[in-house]
Amino acid sequence: MTPETDEDYCMRGHRVPALEPELISDVAYRVCKIIGINKASFKKGKAEKLVSRLENHGIHLDVIEDDEWFDATRATVDPSKGMIYVPNKLYTELCRGKAEAVRIFLHEMGHIVLGHRPLLHFAEAQATLLEDSEWQADYFADAVMDLLKLPRSEAQMEFKF
Ligand SMILES: [Zn+2]
Repeated sequence: MTPETDEDYCMRGHRVPALEPELISDVAYRVCKIIGINKASFKKGKAEKLVSRLENHGIHLDVIEDDEWFDATRATVDPSKGMIYVPNKLYTELCRGKAEAVRIFLHEMGHIVLGHRPLLHFAEAQATLLEDSEWQADYFADAVMDLLKLPRSEAQMEFKF
């Protein structure tokens, strides 16, 4: 079953213009190249450097104190402002190079670089996987991790390092 024919597809995020997987992978490649993101960018202690590099490209990270973080989510993003919000706990994990934190961070970055904005839809057609902003952001995060050969989980991480 291909996503295009999956009529029962349930959207996780906003409905956005459909993006083919190849296009998202291409965006991932170009973003890494333009911003200068490589495997070492996510090594222990490198997060600060990465954050300042992202600033130069209009992507800002706002670290919120854990006790001020009321949201149930792990992180949140405002693509129109280029703002990623994370609780201090997640930022600490990112600084330690934890695979899960890296993936969450890349997912939020995906929402920004893929230009996600909720769309008003008058289309009759059922939404598809390729139009789901959450699927697109996940795909972007995985594309970057694969591109940089970053482990996707801690278990894999221990195995590799
Ligand atoms: Zn998301």
